[in-house]
Amino acid sequence: MTDKLYYDDAYIKSFSAQVLSCTENGGKYETVLSRTAFFPEGGGQPGDRGTIGSARVLDTVIKDGEIVHICSSPVNGECSCTLDWGFRFSNMQQHSGEHIFSGILHSLTGFDNVGFHMSENEVTVDFSGPVTSETLLEAERKTNEIIYNNAAITCFCPPENEISDYDYRSKKEVDGALRLVKIDGADLCACCGTHVARAGEVGMVKVITSENYKGGVRIVLKIGSFALEDYIEKNNSVLEISASLCAKYGEVAGAVEKLKEKQNELRIELSDAKKEIVSLLARDYNETAPFVIDGRGDADFARMLADAGTAKVKTAFAFSGDDKNGYKYAAASRSEDVRETGKALNAALRGRGGGKPEMIMGSVSASKEEIILYLSSLKPNT
Ligand SMILES: [Zn+2]
Repeated sequence: MTDKLYYDDAYIKSFSAQVLSCTENGGKYETVLSRTAFFPEGGGQPGDRGTIGSARVLDTVIKDGEIVHICSSPVNGECSCTLDWGFRFSNMQQHSGEHIFSGILHSLTGFDNVGFHMSENEVTVDFSGPVTSETLLEAERKTNEIIYNNAAITCFCPPENEISDYDYRSKKEVDGALRLVKIDGADLCACCGTHVARAGEVGMVKVITSENYKGGVRIVLKIGSFALEDYIEKNNSVLEISASLCAKYGEVAGAVEKLKEKQNELRIELSDAKKEIVSLLARDYNETAPFVIDGRGDADFARMLADAGTAKVKTAFAFSGDDKNGYKYAAASRSEDVRETGKALNAALRGRGGGKPEMIMGSVSASKEEIILYLSSLKPNT
């Protein structure tokens, strides 16, 4: 059985160990060591990476009760081993920060942490009951107070006959022995993972989002270096919006609201202006030339025009666009089924489209000259 160095000291970055076995499996080499500081995936914490001799350790897992290092190439004998410390320390920050937050939220609500997941750059925790945004804010503040106070984080395995003396939160166990993680003033929780020695090393815990989940709540946290990265990214976004809207950075939300209001006003003005132009252009419809061609390239404008044209002609055509980009078209009638008309039009003008008996819409790739020639060839009242 491999000696678990990470249980006694989570800060071991390099060590030497004897390779007990190394078995090829699908092009990778499953390596068991006499002792290891590589943490195997478990309890929501990812497996460690690093090197064993000249081989890269891609992952560390528990397989058939053994700690297995997934290596890129075969290794043997006595090897010097090194952890990817940046990755491991980040995991320790995430894991410890989650303990503090979950312990505090549990003490505030009485709900249990029923799910925990560490992903690439955030932590997700699920709680067994609903939590208000005010309580989340309180938990976040209290969590960060524990961090400012640099509370001690200690791990210990109580003797079996003393276990009932402890009031601890419990997560899914990876192995049999009960190992408790104590954070002064915040939490006592059974856990097999690796943690920082003092809360100050967590840096910061920030609640990002929360949503209802299976009768409880799912909370996304940014912890430690990920909280800083998140702050940098969001600060840059806010400063860009602030510069773009000429608003102070604390007032961008209000500035965006004003922009949306202005946009709505403009949308209404534009719609009114379109209606006016449509009614002016629609004056040109007559049974000899039951069509209007304009240069906007706007399908909705063509629809409005054709619709207005039905007041003057039996079947009204409207084209919007230019020779370079093609034309959007609409054809409408209050008394005829225009779908057959549309098929003939598509065939003659290299177009596509369709619709309802009273209105069809589509596009053609013909020139203005071809369109006029085609429409002029139609018998009046078709
Ligand atoms: Zn833990």
